[in-house]
Amino acid sequence: MTKLIDGKKIAEEIMRDIKAKVTSLEQKPGLALLLVGDNPASLSYVRAKKRGCAATGIVSTLLEFPTALKESELLAKIEDLNQDPSINGILVQLPLPPHIDEKKVMLAIDPKKDVDGFHPLNVGKMLLGDSSGLLPCTPQGIKVLLEKSQIAVAGKHVVIIGRSNIVGKPLAAILMQKKPGCNATVTICHSRTENLLAIARSADILVAAIGSPHFVGPHMIKPGAVLIDVGINRANGKIVGDVDFEAALPIVSQITPVPGGVGPMTIAMLLQNTCKHRF
Ligand code: NAD
Repeated sequence: MTKLIDGKKIAEEIMRDIKAKVTSLEQKPGLALLLVGDNPASLSYVRAKKRGCAATGIVSTLLEFPTALKESELLAKIEDLNQDPSINGILVQLPLPPHIDEKKVMLAIDPKKDVDGFHPLNVGKMLLGDSSGLLPCTPQGIKVLLEKSQIAVAGKHVVIIGRSNIVGKPLAAILMQKKPGCNATVTICHSRTENLLAIARSADILVAAIGSPHFVGPHMIKPGAVLIDVGINRANGKIVGDVDFEAALPIVSQITPVPGGVGPMTIAMLLQNTCKHRF
């Protein structure tokens, strides 16, 4: 049995399913992608999201703005999109320039169109286990990846390294729910954690979301553990994860590659969120 968790293949299956449903809709779902400034990483993420839309029949509109865009102008644009019935999802690519308050921007998006799942209403629903909300794409993608790979999560010790609002915290909130595919015992580690090594080594499922190439080495992994590498780091012109993949491979039972693991699932979940209130 291969140890690789093929996120690309699983994401393609989900996208095929979305495409079939979108095909049957007369008015196609619409996703607005808002990009402020010219951060090259942001541009490449937005392009990948646009390609995902094209592959599934979702109509995407890329709105590009200069770095100097005023906060009030961005908020006005979001309000227009909130009112536009052809738009089902609004995604403001982060990070924003420092003069724009990200919290204000997230609050301005209609929670029903908040396909990133960052609006406080959706964050609250996630924590409460209320499935009427929209879930953040990367953590939900990890949950689905584990489910589709038939990796048992219930009762297992999931250790997440990283406590960001977009990966670590929401993943903990999702996997601890009393719901199918969840019921994990979750520990979050971060930059101030003591005994990180011992905690990581106690994980049945270890999730690396740090943003530091090769941070997780073989000394941190329990033999037979499942390893989920969320990291996307650019090192020597290559994309690498947070895990020393070659060294980890002999120890783990299963592992996600970078690229081709969590990344494609994030996009598949974004497309699913865009269609959530249409299917
Ligand atoms: P972040 O910088 O917001 O958070 C990093 C976390 O790592 C922090 O909570 C910090 O406490 C923790 N950390 C840093 N140094 C540590 C140390 N020495 N020991 C323990 N913990 C430490 O990052 P993020 O936005 O959560 O992203 C993490 C990584 O995941 C990045 O590489 C990012 O590019 C990637 N990412 C990938 C996807 C995807 O779709 N695959 C989506 C989002 C983020």
